[in-house]
Amino acid sequence: MQFEEISAWDAQYLAKTYARYPVALTGGKNATLTGSDGKQYIDFGAGIAVNIFGANDAQWKAAVIEQLGKIQHVSNYYYAEPQVRLAKLLCERTGAKRVFFSNSGGEANECALKAARKYSFMKYGEGRARIVSLNGSFHGRTLFTLTATGQEGFHQYFHPFVPEVAYADADMQSVVRAADGKACAVMIECVQGESGVKALPVPFVAELSEWCRKNDVLLICDEVQSGNGRTGTLYAYEQYGIVPDIVTTAKGLAGGLPIGATLFFARAQDALSAGDHGSTFGGNPVSCAAACNVISRLTEEFLLEVQGKAAYMRAKLQGFDGVRAVTGLGMMIGLELEKSSKQVAAACLEKGLLVLTAHERLRIVPPLTITKTEMDEGLSVLKEVLK
Ligand SMILES: *Cc1c(COP(=O)(O)O)cnc(C)c1O
Repeated sequence: MQFEEISAWDAQYLAKTYARYPVALTGGKNATLTGSDGKQYIDFGAGIAVNIFGANDAQWKAAVIEQLGKIQHVSNYYYAEPQVRLAKLLCERTGAKRVFFSNSGGEANECALKAARKYSFMKYGEGRARIVSLNGSFHGRTLFTLTATGQEGFHQYFHPFVPEVAYADADMQSVVRAADGKACAVMIECVQGESGVKALPVPFVAELSEWCRKNDVLLICDEVQSGNGRTGTLYAYEQYGIVPDIVTTAKGLAGGLPIGATLFFARAQDALSAGDHGSTFGGNPVSCAAACNVISRLTEEFLLEVQGKAAYMRAKLQGFDGVRAVTGLGMMIGLELEKSSKQVAAACLEKGLLVLTAHERLRIVPPLTITKTEMDEGLSVLKEVLK
């Protein structure tokens, strides 16, 4: 199909939820993608931090195809090998005790929030159902996760919200005030993605973790975007010297197939029991086989390479005209610009580079397998546009 036809059908038949860039992506290899017009694009977005190994990765495809040749879906009434393999991998790599699988980041967070309320209810009864989330956070589009998203812009139209969610700034006084003795959990993104790629201060997260432990309030780390090697460690919280009670992840976990995972650490491991929660597609064997391939390849050696690439990109970006600050962590890069991020992203697209925005910042989250040539090509386009 020609782009004109694709965009016309999109306008006619799809719900109007997305403001899209004027390109249809049809294929590619690693971080070099092809548009329906045959034009090539360097990919600094990875489908919003999803395509960890870029497009058409041979090993990843082989893992997916192997599972497709066996069975494509198994109801959670039965056992399935890819699910247990992935859960074991995740627990062994993180120290988590149990995993619940779903299909998206929003669902992974929904599960975490429900589990936190149940944990508290079983131990303390009523009156302790409050969730504290941070201003500037993004946790998803379901009503509970939208409520937990600390940005008013997302809250228009959808009232009334889930009760007992309070917002705090990234400082302890503000968190304690918001908790008001009624909190069962505090939910954070160690690196806030959607609102501008902002890493939380290490001392705050350390203090928060300590306060949560003392007060038996669960600490939930939303690693939907920052997880799975993105920041140079398997999960970003590792760089904060803390052990959360619940970690949620999704985007990059299966390298491009839908999946969500809620990881329960020791304190929270028995929060959910039979019948409390579930998902028809959750733990889909093809997604889990893909995720096993992803997690088993995110070795210490691979992660060191990611750190090296991140350092390279950051050093280059720091020197560009029009860049006020380089933010974020590892290969989750934010750029504070002199120009409008939306305009810069549009200009980059025209010159063959895909970048994302995060409010007023540019968001750069390339495939972790991006080559030096691909980085250099993309960086030269960006340099040109920012000048
Ligand atoms: C993308 C994102 C979500 C929502 O994930 P979906 O898969 O779109 O439901 C939640 N939290 C964070 C931090 C995200 O970046």
